[in-house]
Amino acid sequence: MEHPKKTIIIGAGISGLTCAYCLRQWNLPVLVLEASNRPGGLISTTRRDGFLFESGPQSPRFNELLWKLIGELNLEREFIRGDPKAKRYIVKNGHLCKAPFSPSDLITTCLFGLRSKLRILGEPLGLSHPPAKEETVADFVLRKFGQETLDYLVDPIVATVFFGDAQKMGMESAFPALVRWERESGSLARGAIAARRRSSRERLMRGTNSRSLGQRVTDSLPALGSFRQGMGVLTDALGEKLGENIRLAAEVVSIMQVAGNGERPGSWRVRLRGGEEFAAENLVMAVPSYTAARLLDSAAPHISSLLGEIPHTPMAVVSAAYDRSTMLYQLDGFGFMVPRREGLITFCTIWNSSLFKGRAPEGKVLMTSFVQASGESDPSVFPDDVLARMVGAETEKILGATGRLVDRQVWKYPRALPQYNLGHAEKIAAIRNALNGFPNLYLAGNYLDGRSIGECAQTGLHAAELIRSHFRG
Ligand SMILES: Cc1cc2nc3c(=O)[nH]c(=O)nc-3n(C[C@H](O)[C@H](O)[C@H](O)COP(=O)(O)OP(=O)(O)OC[C@H]3O[C@@H](n4cnc5c(N)ncnc54)[C@H](O)[C@@H]3O)c2cc1C
Repeated sequence: MEHPKKTIIIGAGISGLTCAYCLRQWNLPVLVLEASNRPGGLISTTRRDGFLFESGPQSPRFNELLWKLIGELNLEREFIRGDPKAKRYIVKNGHLCKAPFSPSDLITTCLFGLRSKLRILGEPLGLSHPPAKEETVADFVLRKFGQETLDYLVDPIVATVFFGDAQKMGMESAFPALVRWERESGSLARGAIAARRRSSRERLMRGTNSRSLGQRVTDSLPALGSFRQGMGVLTDALGEKLGENIRLAAEVVSIMQVAGNGERPGSWRVRLRGGEEFAAENLVMAVPSYTAARLLDSAAPHISSLLGEIPHTPMAVVSAAYDRSTMLYQLDGFGFMVPRREGLITFCTIWNSSLFKGRAPEGKVLMTSFVQASGESDPSVFPDDVLARMVGAETEKILGATGRLVDRQVWKYPRALPQYNLGHAEKIAAIRNALNGFPNLYLAGNYLDGRSIGECAQTGLHAAELIRSHFRG
């Protein structure tokens, strides 16, 4: 049994690691229990024969908090910046069209016709308001821009960035800022400009009020990037910093709230597979929502049932290496996205070796495809070689690849990411409300405030701050 005046964090993904790291920085005792034999959760890098495969984020966006961690962990030299202007493509009728992310690209794009272009370009001149009841992303886009824009712009972006379905995702749940902009300014573009002005003003105020804040490195740092040796560098470094405060291969099978024995009422007891038990004053659940739901089943049944309702998409990730000489396309850019209408199982392919040096040996290319369910089927049930063959056939058609695979790596996720579907925001508000009845129970993870690693880290920091104030209070 451990000293009770500490915090136990279940899960060593970026959310749990950030929480633990912050608590250690503040000299608060912590123990992280992680089921697998490495830290990182969905972030994991495999290096083999000169290739660098990523199981999760390939070139994520780094927010201010992640930059702070990179600085404190001395990883700046390891960081490699992504090119924010790298070309993205969208597949139409089996061919690559440049994604229109600038007004000039929008005018010339082959993805949709004049009517759709005019509706997008004319948006700042119009006046619209979101309906009182939350609408789906698809309904929002249809209302503002029409079917073509939904099919050939928003649907592939939503699938790529959120692994989501625009027909199910809720605007308020997934894009609260857009709803706010439209509500406040009657137009997305006008709302975005007003928000940008507000935040520049705030930055300026902070800069003039404090000399140190004026030096915020994050203002000039790149948003997209990775590390020379892959994304695992960040989570490995966080894990190393925790030293003996992290236990790997420690799967938590049950938790309960206990009282007495010198512990403060309401402290937590956690049991591992194998029977070992730990007690702590605070408990942070930094596991996926469905695992948190299972573990909280008897201790917090209401929270458990709300968490259990959050859906996750199944998906697979196929990284494939080819000889460069067998590619007809140059792979000049970030990669391509595939609209659902195209009827492929690949919904996005990232050209890793074009994004960053050192992802593949000389003369080879590496690309990573994300595979979605076709209809209701789950791609993660297919054997690895079948998946690789199916994706390979699509890649060959789109990119004109003629050669054989040189190497490949497949990951399967029966429950990849939480879906911010209609009603998600309300569910999270209800969970937060129910947490008031458990003053020493905290949640962190990708179902709360966004799925990106920066947003996950932020939930970890937030839990740590609440714990610090709990001890101070
Ligand atoms: C294929 C893919 C691509 C992605 N691409 C991007 C991207 O480009 N940019 C971006 O920002 N984000 C991306 N994401 C999302 C991002 O990686 C995740 O949202 C984030 O890493 C989740 O971190 P987490 O700590 O909340 O959860 P997880 O990483 O899921 O960590 C939870 C941890 O809890 C552990 N655990 C579970 N059960 C138990 C138990 N009973 N006892 C002990 N430990 C347990 C798990 O082993 C795991 O280590 C991607 C995700 C995937 C799957």
